[in-house]
Amino acid sequence: MIDGCYWHGCPLHGNIPRTNTDYWAPKIARNCERDTDTDRRLEEVGWLVVRIWEHEDPEEAAQRIQCAVLERRPT
Ligand SMILES: [Zn+2]
Repeated sequence: MIDGCYWHGCPLHGNIPRTNTDYWAPKIARNCERDTDTDRRLEEVGWLVVRIWEHEDPEEAAQRIQCAVLERRPT
């Protein structure tokens, strides 16, 4: 999954807006909670969740996915 830095609370770029903070802060916090819950549910049924931040280098992200796939492949 690709997570938008803003909406998913990226530690580098996920700044809470200074206006309407009372509205945005809980909204973004809920998104993060939902992400964790989604990961848990998917993992329970055997999926491997690879989360990639919007700011990550696409080549590196692709490599991370490739490694994850290769690691899980039966030998
Ligand atoms: Zn970011």
